Amino acid sequence: MARSRSRYQSWGRYPQSEQTAEVAWNATDIGAGIAKLRGEGYLPFGNGCSYGDSCLAASGQLLDFGSLDSLISFDPATGRLVARPGARLGDISRIAMATGWGLPVTPGTSRVTLGGAVANDVHGKNHLKEGSFGHHISGLQLLRSNGEVIECSPEENTDWLYHTIGGLGLTGTITKIELALKRTPGPWFDVEPTRMEQLADYFALEQETGNEWEHRVAWIDCLAPKNSLGRGWYIRARSIADQRPVPSRINIPAPALPFSPLNSLTLKLFNNTIFHLGYRRGNSYRQDYMRFFYPLDSVSGWNRLYGPAGFQQYQCVVPDGDAEDVIRELLSLIASAGQGSFLAVLKRFGSRHAAGALSFPREGYTLALDFPNRQGLSELFQKMDDCVQAAGGALYPAKDAHMSPDFFRMAYPAWEQHEAMRDPAINSCFWQRMMEDR
Ligand SMILES: Cc1cc2nc3c(=O)[nH]c(=O)nc-3n(C[C@H](O)[C@H](O)[C@H](O)COP(=O)(O)OP(=O)(O)OC[C@H]3O[C@@H](n4cnc5c(N)ncnc54)[C@H](O)[C@@H]3O)c2cc1C
Repeated sequence: MARSRSRYQSWGRYPQSEQTAEVAWNATDIGAGIAKLRGEGYLPFGNGCSYGDSCLAASGQLLDFGSLDSLISFDPATGRLVARPGARLGDISRIAMATGWGLPVTPGTSRVTLGGAVANDVHGKNHLKEGSFGHHISGLQLLRSNGEVIECSPEENTDWLYHTIGGLGLTGTITKIELALKRTPGPWFDVEPTRMEQLADYFALEQETGNEWEHRVAWIDCLAPKNSLGRGWYIRARSIADQRPVPSRINIPAPALPFSPLNSLTLKLFNNTIFHLGYRRGNSYRQDYMRFFYPLDSVSGWNRLYGPAGFQQYQCVVPDGDAEDVIRELLSLIASAGQGSFLAVLKRFGSRHAAGALSFPREGYTLALDFPNRQGLSELFQKMDDCVQAAGGALYPAKDAHMSPDFFRMAYPAWEQHEAMRDPAINSCFWQRMMEDR
């Protein structure tokens, strides 16, 4: 039977909302959990790696899939993997790597579940080459709260597939996922860091980098002096045929402090040190996939470093055309406000057609960075939103806790059809916010 648990939060620990959950420990618990929760409403929950309120239930009742993590089948000849939604991407990677396969797309933490990766159609550092997670889904089983089971794939019930990939968990409960893994030469990467003195360097490097570099990302020092706006490191990497085993990693727990040690002084110091001394001073190096894809996982619970007030991540995408000017404008707004922290990341998305009706990735450039919750943040976000909206861009619902309904509906025109396909018993705090005043 499903058992309840309390103390659920999103990764940013903002907004605070009272949430409890029924935990699905095995497949037979799912029906019992839904039967218990459907009266007042619920939301499927993965591992709470979404930053804002998209993983919080409007009713305060979650159906937690984090323990329903079994692998149903894996064919090492074809790379076809079928698993329950709670399977962690890190565990899938380990199993796959042992037989020469890997995840085709992965976000920046190994703790994400398969269900969460599908529901937010997550992206990695290789969107140009591989698109988003949803592009590699070959089948899903969806359970509606009225008991109806919908099998969907690129051949069957395609509308349900299209609205469930990137569908924010709202079309029903995903109970089974089929994923096409990707052949990989080995668990190691050749990594080449290049120091950027200004933003223009990023765009030049991105243009000159050839297809042989599958993974590209830039780290930007958003607290740099105004005359070095956009300075940072450009990192490109490719998987190589090196079969050495990956050394195990010791994760350090972040201390739970009653205050945040991150203030403008410590953050400036940290960013400055990385810019001047970090990334092995520009020398190429070899790194295993765990350290390359998931550097932040080595400090468990690092989100607590932001203190009890939590933090928000701002992630936008802006179209190709004016991207350099728009990103420069965003960085200037952040610098003038003296906000921002150590995690400003800039990546490029390719032109592949979106895998889901509400998928965030679209052709252009995406900027993401964390902001401690302090005074003046909503004013800054408003200015940044105006700039992104005017450029025809979008914000990422998985990271959001502030977007206005108008901006959302403009950037995600399929919202109305999505609302029509939403399971009537399922709703999130995010969706409720976006559907206000309808
Ligand atoms: C350190 C860090 C780095 C990150 N880097 C990236 C990145 O590079 N790229 C990126 O795209 N994202 C990134 N993210 C965000 C993260 O990948 C997404 O928010 C992801 O969806 C979280 O998955 P989760 O398993 O924790 O699910 P949750 O956050 O718990 O839930 C996410 C959504 O999935 C739905 N869901 C979960 N299980 C089911 C199910 N069984 N059926 C139906 N719906 C379900 C929920 O309802 C919710 O809408 C990062 C997050 C962190 C903390």
